[in-house]
Amino acid sequence: MSNETRPAWHHIAADEILDKLGSHSDGLDEETARRRLEEHGPNKLDVKRRRTAIERFLEQFNNILIYILIAAAIVTALLAEWIDTAVIMAVVLINALVGFIQEGKAEKALEQISQMLTPTARVLRGGDTQEIKAEELVPGDVVLLNSGDKVPADLRLTEVRNLKIEESVLTGESQAVSKSVEPLEEDVVVNDQTNMAFSSTLVTYGQAKGVVTATAMNTEIGRISQMLTEEETIKTPLLRQIGQFGKWLSGYIVAFSIFLFMIAYFLRDYTLYDSLLAAISLAVAAIPEGLPAIITITLAIGVQELAKRNAIIRRLPAVETLGAITYICSDKTGTLTQNEMTVRTLLGPSGDYHVEGTGYEPKGDFHQDNKKVDPGDNRDICLLARTSLLCNEAGVQQNEDGEWVMRGDPTEGALVSMGLKAGIKTDDYKRLDVIPFESEHKFMATLDEHESGERYIHIKGAPERILEMCSGLYGDKDGRPFDPDQWKQRMEQTANRGERLIALAIKQAGRDQDTLEVSDIEEGVGLLGLAGMKDPPRKEATEAVRICRQAGIHVIMVTGDHVLTARAIADELGLETTQTMAGSELEDKSDEELRELVKTYRVFARTNPTHKLKLMKALQANGEVVAMTGDGVNDAPALKRADVGVAMGIKGTEVSKESSEVVLADDNFASIEKAIEQGRTIYDNIRKTILFILPTNGAEVLVVLTAILLGVMLPVIPVQILWINMVTAVTLALALAFEPTEADIMLRKPRDPNTPILSRYFVWRIVFVSVLISSFTLILHFRALDSGLGMPVSRTIAVNTLAAGQAFYLFNCRYMDRSVITVTGLLGSRYVLIAIAALVLLQLFLTYAPFMNAWFGTAPLLPAHWSAIVGAGLAVFLLVELEKLVVRAFFSR
Ligand code: ADP
Ligand code: MG
Repeated sequence: MSNETRPAWHHIAADEILDKLGSHSDGLDEETARRRLEEHGPNKLDVKRRRTAIERFLEQFNNILIYILIAAAIVTALLAEWIDTAVIMAVVLINALVGFIQEGKAEKALEQISQMLTPTARVLRGGDTQEIKAEELVPGDVVLLNSGDKVPADLRLTEVRNLKIEESVLTGESQAVSKSVEPLEEDVVVNDQTNMAFSSTLVTYGQAKGVVTATAMNTEIGRISQMLTEEETIKTPLLRQIGQFGKWLSGYIVAFSIFLFMIAYFLRDYTLYDSLLAAISLAVAAIPEGLPAIITITLAIGVQELAKRNAIIRRLPAVETLGAITYICSDKTGTLTQNEMTVRTLLGPSGDYHVEGTGYEPKGDFHQDNKKVDPGDNRDICLLARTSLLCNEAGVQQNEDGEWVMRGDPTEGALVSMGLKAGIKTDDYKRLDVIPFESEHKFMATLDEHESGERYIHIKGAPERILEMCSGLYGDKDGRPFDPDQWKQRMEQTANRGERLIALAIKQAGRDQDTLEVSDIEEGVGLLGLAGMKDPPRKEATEAVRICRQAGIHVIMVTGDHVLTARAIADELGLETTQTMAGSELEDKSDEELRELVKTYRVFARTNPTHKLKLMKALQANGEVVAMTGDGVNDAPALKRADVGVAMGIKGTEVSKESSEVVLADDNFASIEKAIEQGRTIYDNIRKTILFILPTNGAEVLVVLTAILLGVMLPVIPVQILWINMVTAVTLALALAFEPTEADIMLRKPRDPNTPILSRYFVWRIVFVSVLISSFTLILHFRALDSGLGMPVSRTIAVNTLAAGQAFYLFNCRYMDRSVITVTGLLGSRYVLIAIAALVLLQLFLTYAPFMNAWFGTAPLLPAHWSAIVGAGLAVFLLVELEKLVVRAFFSR
């Protein structure tokens, strides 16, 4: 990092700044931008210090389980059992290597996903506004800021409009600061540089223009980035719970091993060597070494699957929470509906008009009372069309393929298309100022100057809001009385058809007025009429709502739209009820009343973002697990508060994304439902993995324990136990990470987040399977000994019986309580079959390779032995299926 003192940009006047940075009021030209990008490099912060590969590898050893193994290696070394020492060390190394590779894969998968969310920036280049990747910004670029943006680089502000920025990443101060363009004293510190906007801070209000003064690591945030070296950990509540469980387990195991050593040595007259061997075997047998790594990889695979289904996970714990969701509070427009709007109806002072046409193509006739009207001759239509076009930020255009595409907000796009259908030209107007649309105040206004010098304020917005402002009809020469109630009646008829309503109004301004304030339109505004537009529900959303209902998940629609429009759409979507409440009614409700309300109402209309927060608090007070969607800056508090905040990838602001756990790449409600399905699957697979791995350890412990209590030679020795643990973890258990979703997953009720991962039934199953596998192992082992087969062969039989028991039990674990004796149950997973094939090869290698025999104390087997081993495995499988059958019959849940 360079230490050169940098120019005090805040000290330089706004109009000199462009010159100083070699820029222009039209922005940089492409050529200069390209050159500077080469010179300065991409505008990227390397804040997150990645662990080096060596660090990651070494960390694998920082594990209490591994300590125990290393202690075991030392003990065997002291006893001069060098082969044992070598094998234990090799196993420790291989275990670490496997953990290292799996964790690396998981990290890489998660990294790829975080890169799917690259921020963008709006810049002026060669006079055109463009949206580019924030990475491509260079010093001198002219950047446009809007509320909701994350500032992409350090900027000297040149124009501001009510700009407020939240700079807590930089200053720790969470109160947003107002910004201006005035130059400041040279020695003013960063916290007080009110004419600068700093990289990574958040625009909470207003608009601005600024010139890039520094990018990447030269920005203020880049300079303090060492302080932000918080490492991205891949820990979730579940992983922590399991880590805890591991520690707890290890403590008991060590204590118990020592206890056992004493029994063996003092009461059973084992030699010192045999007693130590027994104690070590027990410790090694009981520890599920592979579990944490397998769970990490299961999560990572799950997160990749989620990304394929358009749900990008920003915070890993959300994966677990997804499966427990009981309520989804969703926006309507664009999430539940298609967000492709077409104006269908115009309500003017002289009557209703029907507008024809589909999509954004500006082609379609106007009808009144089923008779075609010429829009050019109709004053109602002309005025509505002109205001629609002027008070608007959207545009429609024909692309190279001849399709009509819309740029901007669909509500506005629909109005543009209607205006063009009417054949209105607006070239003779020039915009002087604008108050942009915000969900908070629900209107937009522009100040425009006509060629003639006359100036007008054009207004559009939510009907109630506009009716409040209007004192009458605009320029009504006939002196018709203005009857708001009659207008409301006409509005209701339109809204009942599910049409979204926008009211349009106008006010003449003074010839000298050149800025616009909210106070200018508080009175004296003339109503022009209304436009009703249709935004049909998404087909997938209707289906997703149905699936959610079956899955015990309640869907609440929260919208800024009109009560009747909202209700009509809720009806089409098939929500539980269409009981609708207006946001304003929420305001004076007590907490208790709210808690009752959210149990019955499923549609909240005319809401603003503060209502979302109220609803959320009430739901959470009822103990619900809530997913909430949002896109605007003002949604951030509710998104943060939600158990799973869901931001919109396309229309969402950077601020909303920063506040969320999940970002939807396609803004589609159906993707939330898919994500929940996947979240449930991941949780299921983790449970299956635990249910599968723990009996391996359980069976091994029982085998060792029985031998010690009987005072006989160990049926399996430590290195053999380590071998089994390792090969089952890398082959069999991993297959469960790829288990597809169970067919009934969205027919179950949501999981109670408070139930422990090891339910009582799970403990029972683990004990049951442990007893089964250990019994078969002991029986086959002792039978072999009795028939004079010798220790190595008898131990090899024991090792293979343990492996076979596990391999067969893997099939049982594919479905937790349903029977797997079906074609898909047995053959449905490629991964299970591959894993078993791999295990068979590994076991054959252990049994027949001469050096493996030397190292692991094994010996070749005969076909007859194998049929007994496979028979034992099959018996385990059938007995577990029988157990499931009994449990299903008696405890049908
Ligand atoms: P939602 O997205 O939940 O449907 P919004 O808060 O975006 O709700 O919009 C609420 C109301 O504000 C709409 O019903 C409409 O009447 C009005 N409105 C929406 N977009 C605009 C806009 N760009 N300009 C003026 N008014 C708008
Ligand atoms: Mg909206």
